[in-house]
Amino acid sequence: MSRKVVIIGGVAGGMSAATRLRRLDESLSITVLERSAHVSYANCGLPYFIGGVIDERQDLLLQTPESLHARFSLDVRVNHDVAYIDRENGRVIGTVRESGEAFELPYDYLILSPGAGPIIPPIPGVETAFTLRTVEDVDRLLAAVSAEPRHVTVIGGGFIGIETAENLRHRGIDVTLVEAAPQVLAPLDIEMALPVVAELQAHDVDVRLNSMMTEISSDCVRLASGECISTELVVLAIGVRPEVSLASTCGLEIGPRGGIKVNDFQQTSDPAIYAVGDAAEKIDALDGSSALIPLANLANRHGRIVADHIAGHPVRAVDAIGTAIVKVFDLTVAATGWNERRLKNAGREFLAIHTHPGSHAGYYPGAEQMRLKILIDPHTHRILGAQAVGKAGVDKRIDVIATAIRGEILAEELADLELCYAPPFGSAKDPVNMLGYVADNLLNGSSTSVQWHELSSLMAAGTPLIDVRTAREYEQGHIPGALNIPVDELRDRLNELPASSVVVTCQVGQRGHTAAMMLRELGIEASNLDGGYRTWSMSPAAG
Ligand SMILES: Cc1cc2nc3c(=O)[nH]c(=O)nc-3n(C[C@H](O)[C@H](O)[C@H](O)COP(=O)(O)OP(=O)(O)OC[C@H]3O[C@@H](n4cnc5c(N)ncnc54)[C@H](O)[C@@H]3O)c2cc1C
Repeated sequence: MSRKVVIIGGVAGGMSAATRLRRLDESLSITVLERSAHVSYANCGLPYFIGGVIDERQDLLLQTPESLHARFSLDVRVNHDVAYIDRENGRVIGTVRESGEAFELPYDYLILSPGAGPIIPPIPGVETAFTLRTVEDVDRLLAAVSAEPRHVTVIGGGFIGIETAENLRHRGIDVTLVEAAPQVLAPLDIEMALPVVAELQAHDVDVRLNSMMTEISSDCVRLASGECISTELVVLAIGVRPEVSLASTCGLEIGPRGGIKVNDFQQTSDPAIYAVGDAAEKIDALDGSSALIPLANLANRHGRIVADHIAGHPVRAVDAIGTAIVKVFDLTVAATGWNERRLKNAGREFLAIHTHPGSHAGYYPGAEQMRLKILIDPHTHRILGAQAVGKAGVDKRIDVIATAIRGEILAEELADLELCYAPPFGSAKDPVNMLGYVADNLLNGSSTSVQWHELSSLMAAGTPLIDVRTAREYEQGHIPGALNIPVDELRDRLNELPASSVVVTCQVGQRGHTAAMMLRELGIEASNLDGGYRTWSMSPAAG
């Protein structure tokens, strides 16, 4: 008798486990049960189908039950909704959608990959809102937007909300994006998120931050402020929650973050039942805590681990960092690891560095400036996280830093990475190398910096701010109260410095660093405003 493996959920995690398992073992009976009408669909591509960027629905459907049977001898059953796991007798019980016919299926191993469902707040009218998770969801939303509404409100400024807003704008629909938090894209810190809001606004998305939706009626979305946003259609994207109902009903242990608790092999509290993907908790690589990280890479990786474990192959469990990217009109936004907000909330010490490098050598046409931020443990010199907002080259830098975090490369060692360079592609000192140089200076004490949010209290306490850009740059915009002494004149104008301890600033922090080092050599205490005017002017400090 062949061993029976049953998999619940036939998309990222479930299908990775199924196909890997078949490659490793021809003798197994593998059945995949999927509630929706499709398996292996590209859920990450759904927003782009709304905007017509992906114009063939077929392109979203990567495999069919037939193709999976032909290549992998998998028994894939769509429209099969599992309602109960009978652990005592090793079987799953459910119904076939549409026909309502009951089914039950025995298992030796059960793999749960039911994903995460959209969070639906308990407010009046919420049942009329659209959500985006499955191909059926996108079909429904597309049918509604094909009726050419003039205005749609998207609730939630996370990845899915922003991708949906952008794609609705592609269709020429007016969009309001409502977000309860003071910023969009929670993985970013606020000074990195504000340029994203500016990009949304530049593409005529009406962004409402600090706005809590309280009610949806037939023609309006009401906010806690009492304001009514006149709208024809509402898309809800305020986050996802792991689907744990099957697991909890049959008594499997649920972890502290509300996901299914698993060990290094993805086994639940019942060793015959595995869980992967958005429904399962991960271990955070930074502090070993439980984490929910609903991203496709981890679902696929953990699906493979389960297959290896069932097939008796050695398993290498690796904790999760959380690396994500999103397109926001012409911007690329990417992040890895923890952000400053989270580090502060956890009471962890850190050092932040902001830079504004070009995507490639400035003298070669087409270079685009990006905002780059890295967070470092000042004691261990470990990289704790990074964020980037820009155009070309953002993905490359965050991927390199994510790799450095995984490889436990220290912050100053980023300077040692030999990254590919020719003028059309990068710089001899790549932006990642530069982060390493800055980190080295700060960590070995040869320079000190001041953050955008620390400046006003320092100035209020009497520390002067010296803007070392040219007079012309200064006139075009400067931090109130800054005294302008261009870096090239600084040696000759030392007598104009109002104090023996100053903060210096420039456009992005580079000339400020030169000025601060020069002043320190000349016996004046000088710190550099991290990221310069460019970081400060897009931060809440600028008002
Ligand atoms: C619109 C959208 C865009 C996204 N974009 C990105 C992106 O750009 N990058 C990224 O990394 N991640 C992205 N994600 C997240 C990514 O898709 C998920 O992390 C990944 O698919 C999780 O895999 P999973 O196997 O856990 O769950 P899923 O892929 O969601 O699959 C779970 C399946 O289980 C089925 N199921 C649930 N319960 C039952 C049941 N009781 N019986 C039978 N079947 C059941 C569901 O119908 C579903 O099809 C996006 C998600 C969405 C919705």
